[in-house]
Amino acid sequence: MEKYKGVIASQGLAIAEPVIYRRVDYLEKTPTTCRADDPSREKERLENAHRVLNERLEKLKETALDEEKDLIDAEIMMLETMVMEAEELIENTSICAELAVKKIYEKYEVLFKESGSELINLRLYDLRDLASRLIAILLGAMEKEKELYRGKIVVADEIYPLDFTALVKHEIKGIVTRRGGITSHVAILARSYGVPYLIVPGLPDIGKAKLIILDAINGLVIIDPDQSTIEQYRELEEKYAKLRQVYAREAHGKASTLDGVEVKVLCNIGSVEEARIADEYGCDGVGLLRTEFLYMDRETPPSDKEIEESIGHIMELVKGEVIVRAPDIGADKPVKFIRIDNEENPQLGVRGIRLLLKHKDILLEPFIKAVLRLSHKYGDRLKVMIPMVSLPEELREFYDELIMVKKTLEEKGEKVSIPVLGIMVETPASAKALDLFKKIAPISFASIGSNDLTQYVLAVDRGNQNLNYLYDELQPPVIRTIKEVIEKATGTGVEISICGEMANKIHAIPILIGLGIRKLSVPISLVGRTKYVIRRLNSSELFRLAENIVEETITKNQVYEYVNKLLEKHRIEYV
Ligand code: PEP
Ligand code: MG
Repeated sequence: MEKYKGVIASQGLAIAEPVIYRRVDYLEKTPTTCRADDPSREKERLENAHRVLNERLEKLKETALDEEKDLIDAEIMMLETMVMEAEELIENTSICAELAVKKIYEKYEVLFKESGSELINLRLYDLRDLASRLIAILLGAMEKEKELYRGKIVVADEIYPLDFTALVKHEIKGIVTRRGGITSHVAILARSYGVPYLIVPGLPDIGKAKLIILDAINGLVIIDPDQSTIEQYRELEEKYAKLRQVYAREAHGKASTLDGVEVKVLCNIGSVEEARIADEYGCDGVGLLRTEFLYMDRETPPSDKEIEESIGHIMELVKGEVIVRAPDIGADKPVKFIRIDNEENPQLGVRGIRLLLKHKDILLEPFIKAVLRLSHKYGDRLKVMIPMVSLPEELREFYDELIMVKKTLEEKGEKVSIPVLGIMVETPASAKALDLFKKIAPISFASIGSNDLTQYVLAVDRGNQNLNYLYDELQPPVIRTIKEVIEKATGTGVEISICGEMANKIHAIPILIGLGIRKLSVPISLVGRTKYVIRRLNSSELFRLAENIVEETITKNQVYEYVNKLLEKHRIEYV
């Protein structure tokens, strides 16, 4: 059993046999000679195939993004020309429809290549694709493909919209791709057809895997799961079918407990694409913008202008506050352009704020310039958060840099403002001494990064699969640490929120609210479920629950038992 994390492009759950999607080039399967005894019959076959493909293209246009609509129109025109010319060829040479299509394609291939234009050559791919699809319909290949894909989870490097329209007819159960985007046309189609879809860049070759679980609620794909995982997911699958509509209805508007305490549900995002759909999924803002996407997969760091442009774009797309995290590079988030040598233990090494302070010129300054300018434009709606802080002097150094860069920009006549500032609480040091930070720099919030905080409190590497049985945010020492964070913040004016995965857990929500947290930041796909839970809880009851858990529980199982009783009492259903 192996697990891989991915980005959810369309929510859902599926358990099925995987099948690798291979695009067949039907031009290669076309005979080089074939005679048509009845040319008018061949023309009729071609017209029918044309109609089928044309309908699929027209249907695609209904959900296409604006820029894609023009491309689809161009394809419709190319298809029409190709079919017209193929009909003429059938009439004149009495060959079968498949071969006529192939010959017309080959004619254009020569012409396009002779043009020497890169743009025209790109259109050649589209033309070949259309010709291949037309031939596939003529050969009746779609029916054979149906047998191959029906009821399975399709795994591919990438899937194109026209592939999807065929696959959905084959009644597939889900899709996993290594490349793609959550606002791509395929993702939009998958959401509108209710097909679970996960993008997993690190997915290895699935080889001979017999079964996979596509958990597009928690963003996981599990290859060859063990029996107990299968059973657990079979149950979830059934429940999810019922609850999906309920959660979707709950996603929008404010979420308050039964006794009127509002709890904001913000979102964790890591791309412009996710910002685009945040509102559609009911996010009350962005509680964690992981800016690392700006730094990954490139040979040089981004400039201040690039950073400003991307974050500015996100500010325009999102309603409500946006907490921008300074790049958290190092350890589990390496970049190509910085080598960190001599680290035997990268999780305790040069990462987060430590790396930013070490590379002020290429990392910190460009980021600070961008957020200073954006803060002037967006005011308090933009907040900046520093990752992996353990000591107040790190915050001070960051702050001094902020003031210095601000002065330099102002001297050049630029309009800039100091952003609302906060830190992530991810280390036991910052948790224990949270009150000290405010004394050294004007921070107004602190967001609990429970992924790292759990790792450091429990001394369990978050990525070490051998220690999965220990790593749990609901372990009593983690809960106690969070209580301490809140106590230390009391009276300092520092607002405490949480953006680690603990907030994703149904069992953690009542405890976090009971401890006093009023802002949870979760993945986009979990907003509906989180608001559903909040609206069924009573805050006064949660206060007692948290107190009892802190004082009485010794093991994580006891914590779960406490919360289970509460969930049952309020008939809260979950997957
Ligand atoms: C965390 O540590 O909880 C967190 C949100 O940061 P990341 O997962 O990006 O390290
Ligand atoms: Mg972290």
